Amino acid sequence: MKSAKKQFAVIGLGRFGRSVCQELAEAGSQVLAIDINEEHVKGAMEFASEAIVADCTHEDTVAELKLEEYDMVMVSIGSDINASILATLVLKEAHCKTVWVKANDKFHAKILQKVGADRVIMPEKEMGVRIASQMLDKRVKDFHLLGSGLALTEVVISSSLLGKSLKDFAVCKLEDTKVIALKRGPEVITQPSFDKPLETGDVIILVGPHIELAQKLRLL
Ligand code: ATP
Repeated sequence: MKSAKKQFAVIGLGRFGRSVCQELAEAGSQVLAIDINEEHVKGAMEFASEAIVADCTHEDTVAELKLEEYDMVMVSIGSDINASILATLVLKEAHCKTVWVKANDKFHAKILQKVGADRVIMPEKEMGVRIASQMLDKRVKDFHLLGSGLALTEVVISSSLLGKSLKDFAVCKLEDTKVIALKRGPEVITQPSFDKPLETGDVIILVGPHIELAQKLRLL
C-alpha cells in the first residue's frame, strides 16, 4: 500500500464515526469505513474511499483487511462496549500503528487505555470542556484534552498582567505544567523565558495536568 496520502480506517459508523470519516475524506485522505451494519456502510460509500461490512472484533478480519498497514485506525463503537474493547485489543495485537478509540465514560476509557489504545476520546466531555472554556472565560482561547490526564490550552494575556512576566502568572507555575510557546502577533516564541515581560494580547500555549489546569483557569 504505497501512497503519499495518509491512510485511515474508521470502525463504527454511528454519528461520530461517520463525521470523522467524512472530514478525513473531505481533507483528501484515503479512508476505509467499516461497520457491521449494511445500511451504515451504504451511507458511507457516498464519501469514503472504500466502505465495507466487517466485524473488527475478529482477528481474521483485521488480518485480512491489513489494518496494520494504515497510518491510523479509529474505533467509534459506543453502544456495544464489549465490541469496542475487543476491537481495540485485536487491533493492538495485530500491531496497528496508532489506534484512537471513542469512550462513553471514564470506566470505558480506563479499560481502553489498559488494552493499549493510543488515545481515548470522549467527544461529549471534550466538547463540553471546550465550550465551557469559551463561555466562562474569554482568556482561555482553547482547551484540548490530550489523553493520559493532560491538556493543551491557549490563554490570552489580559491587561492586568501587562508589564509582568510568566513567573507572575500562577497557571505557569503549576506542577508538571510546561509553557510550550508564546504567540505575539505573527511571532511564535518557543519555550519563552519566565522573565520575559508580557504584552496585552500575548497568547501562552501550555501543556499540563488537565484537572489542575482547568481548575486554575476556573473552568471547573
Ligand atoms: P454516536 O452515534 O453518537 O457516534 P455511538 O458510538 O453510541 O454514538 P453506536 O450506535 O454505538 O453509536 O454506533 C456505533 C456503530 O458501530 C454502529 O453503526 C454499529 O453498527 C457499529 N459496530 C458495532 N459493533 C461493531 C463491530 N464489531 N465492528 C464494526 N462496527 C461495529
